[in-house]
Amino acid sequence: MERLKVGVLGGGQLGSMLIRHAIDFGLNIAVLDKHADSPCARYTSSFCIGDPMNYDDVLAFGKNLDVITIEKEAVNTKALKALVQQGKKVFPSPDIIEIIQNKNTQKKFLESAEIPVVPAVTINGREDLRRYLNKLPGCLKKCENGYDGKGVMIIKNEQDIDIAFEEPSILEELVDIKNEISVIVTRNEEGVVHCYDPVMMIFDKERMILDYQISPANISEEQASDAIDIAVKTAKALNLVGILAVEMFLTNDGKLLVNELAPRPHNSGHHTIEACVTSQYEQLLRVVTGLPLGDTRMKNSSVMINLLEPSALRKKNVELALKEVLYSNDVHLHWYGKTGGHEGRKMGHITITGSTIDNAFSKAKTIRNILNMEYEES
Ligand code: ADP
Repeated sequence: MERLKVGVLGGGQLGSMLIRHAIDFGLNIAVLDKHADSPCARYTSSFCIGDPMNYDDVLAFGKNLDVITIEKEAVNTKALKALVQQGKKVFPSPDIIEIIQNKNTQKKFLESAEIPVVPAVTINGREDLRRYLNKLPGCLKKCENGYDGKGVMIIKNEQDIDIAFEEPSILEELVDIKNEISVIVTRNEEGVVHCYDPVMMIFDKERMILDYQISPANISEEQASDAIDIAVKTAKALNLVGILAVEMFLTNDGKLLVNELAPRPHNSGHHTIEACVTSQYEQLLRVVTGLPLGDTRMKNSSVMINLLEPSALRKKNVELALKEVLYSNDVHLHWYGKTGGHEGRKMGHITITGSTIDNAFSKAKTIRNILNMEYEES
């Protein structure tokens, strides 16, 4: 297995956590990323500078590899298809990545597989929105290249159309959300499926970015089992080989609706490193290298706090704050070593484990206080 040459498109923190787990399996992971200072660069001797969206770069990167996976969806699927033609293994398949890259095709796919989604209409551009005044207020989402809430806006009324996205988008009904949950599912080449327990994600309402995450989700057993069924059905409908995060809304009237899919390790699965028997990163490596899937059971309850630039650590010197945090037990720091950047950039995360969710939550409150972060009670 350690002779298998594995490559990852994207060199961000998800890739670096994959590398961390690849060390246990004796694997040397090759990484392709545009930025020489991306988190993965310092952890692999096979770091290639190139654009995962560029056909030639991806083709050249894949030439000497046996198997390729991704840590972001913005990759060149045409090049991946060419690599499949050359006999390389690509997990998830380029077809799946293509479906998911576009929110419109993603939604159409889910609808055709009879998976419950938020109803939406396709919008060709800003002016096209005027045809749907009867659908306002609604949630407008760019079809492509939206992430961390950047391609999402609420359109309340006709006036808001003036500031709406120009790009092709979808306009979703505004959902009366009770909870946002995520189920991570993995499926291997033999069709064996393993799921992690549902987790609950609490978003920063203004920036629409994940603030913190709770595992297990505070939902009924029946809802948890329905959510797992939906995730498994989705993975099977896609014929997935790889890992998939299925983000869902639990509505105030008790419905589960799939919001979006991510066919890669996901920040709603960071906690699996400390809180589950097998981490999502190890699980993906097991899939891509043909090893048996690992046990996904939870060992502990946990709260995962996202550390965003710069408000996460405002008013405090970063190093001092993190040092103070580490005086507490059951606190696991993951600092991504990024050189800073735009507001809202993910700089790190902290997973706090506990015997019960209340126990983990109360420890997390202490940590938030140290970091000057307040909880938005949900
Ligand atoms: P991204 O791809 O940027 O993560 P999402 O589709 O996950 O975008 O949307 C970001 C957040 O916006 C969601 O987590 C949710 O809080 C809110 N949101 C998304 N869609 C809707 C909707 N139809 N109704 C109400 N809120 C929504």
